Amino acid sequence: DEKKEIKKLNELLEKGPHAEPDQIKTFKDLPISKKTLLGLRDSEFMNPTEIQRESITLALRGMDILGAAKTGSGKTLAFLIPVIERLYRNLWSKVDGLGAVIITPTRELAYQIFEALRKIGRYHDFSAGLIIGGKDLKFERKRMDLLNIVICTPGRLLQHMDENSSFITTNLQILVLDEADRCLDMGFQKDMNAILDHLPNERQTLLFSATQTKSVKDLARLSLKSPVYVSVHENS
Ligand code: ADP
Ligand code: MG
Repeated sequence: DEKKEIKKLNELLEKGPHAEPDQIKTFKDLPISKKTLLGLRDSEFMNPTEIQRESITLALRGMDILGAAKTGSGKTLAFLIPVIERLYRNLWSKVDGLGAVIITPTRELAYQIFEALRKIGRYHDFSAGLIIGGKDLKFERKRMDLLNIVICTPGRLLQHMDENSSFITTNLQILVLDEADRCLDMGFQKDMNAILDHLPNERQTLLFSATQTKSVKDLARLSLKSPVYVSVHENS
């Protein structure tokens, strides 16, 4: 039943744009799994916001995205839905290890993303965890090889990459750089570059930012392959 659904979703995605962004009214108009739709419904998310309508289908089709939209426009679901769907369509399971890394500048944002993931992902079986410091490295390390989705701050992620040999990223499917402008403003540029050096090249990357500064464009050049630029302006 699940495999049938996945086949159907893949067919819909291969056919080309499922629907033009302005024809998308509810999340049901997007080619996403029943489990995710149920999670969205439980959380009372009915209609996608503009950045979600503009970027989710492209991200589901495997493209790299450079997304710009102001704070509060709904960027979290714009990347969480593609993350969940990518792992689901790849029949990801516990034994497949780390499939997705989401990097965000602060612990607080990491918690918020984790909570959103717990809500909309509640019918899926993936394991997810926060890697944000505050606990000793050993404690985080023990749980790490069990995680399919890691939500982290740049410094702590890099620390694991440098010091934790059981942190294996070779299967990574999808990387999210959230609030990239703030990551760079906070002085994480070097860490971000080092993280990118550690990660496999064959992956999908979604980069979201409220503003498009020069340093965001530099990071985009380093991290994205033929990205689609999705920008949502005022009144949205
Ligand atoms: P951003 O990352 O762009 O600043 P968030 O993803 O944090 O924005 O979303 C801002 C707020 O909007 C959150 O409270 C979130 O729950 C809510 N939200 C996001 N998408 C939707 C949606 N499709 N329908 C209703 N509320 C939404
Ligand atoms: Mg955000």
